[in-house]
Amino acid sequence: METKKAHIIEKLGKNPSKKMIILGGMHGNEINGIEAIEEVLPRLKEIFDENNGEIWFLRGNEPALKAGERFVEKDLNRLWLDEHIYNKEDDSIADFKSLRVLHDLIINDICQGLFENCYFLDLHTFSAPSGIFAIPAANDKSLEFARSFGVPFIERLSDSLPGTALSYFGRKGMTSVVFEGGTHYSPEATRNLVAGIWHALAQAGFIDEKLQEVKQSRKLLIDISKDLPHHLELTYRHKLDDYQNFKMNPGFYNFKPVKKSDNLAVQNKEIILSPDSGFMLMPLYQKKGSDGFFIVKEK
Ligand SMILES: [Zn+2]
Repeated sequence: METKKAHIIEKLGKNPSKKMIILGGMHGNEINGIEAIEEVLPRLKEIFDENNGEIWFLRGNEPALKAGERFVEKDLNRLWLDEHIYNKEDDSIADFKSLRVLHDLIINDICQGLFENCYFLDLHTFSAPSGIFAIPAANDKSLEFARSFGVPFIERLSDSLPGTALSYFGRKGMTSVVFEGGTHYSPEATRNLVAGIWHALAQAGFIDEKLQEVKQSRKLLIDISKDLPHHLELTYRHKLDDYQNFKMNPGFYNFKPVKKSDNLAVQNKEIILSPDSGFMLMPLYQKKGSDGFFIVKEK
């Protein structure tokens, strides 16, 4: 029986006036987020002033994390819609169960209906060989929070992906950002996610900006982003209903420039051409996924 407790890695702090939720493993194969949380925790416990808010570190898709799979039957990060949250009929599907337990934990136990002072940082990695970026929910606070990381950030992506936790909590009024740290299982991804956590905690006022960890983290994020475009927006999403019949051509990576009509992938034996020029984002190089790739443009 999956419980709320199974999703809580650690809770720090005793002042409920503001809350930070940092979640790893929304996708069960993305263990770098959990590793990053475990790396930050010992030092954070030493320096965090308990009167400075509450910080909650959570695990995402618990059964998928145990299985080492992106999801069990359904992508948990496409299920954050009322029709799934409040439909009790299919608790036999493990990902739906995780959704409802996490939803109850975050909405009722952690935020207690007070979303204005709640931050949500969702740690992810991807299957492409390089890149780093942030995705804000579609509200101004989230946009400014995403911009503050110093890495590329992408507008209009949150709106175009129905059922992400990002957009769900953003619509509740939370400051909500996805941080994509790097390639699945790479040491760089964990290092980058660690930096993202330190930056976020300082930016939101939970810890002192003058801490060495914060300064080093900010320098790292700016350094690794210096040759990447900074402010982007989504122009195209290649949604997949059946990921098994999709194969991305080799050689793509995040922010690789593409031109209109470039040959990108094969789907059901048909060649997929780029509908537009721009930059490639999140080309799919893993066996499970809801999207083949995205095209983004500089804003
Ligand atoms: Zn993910």
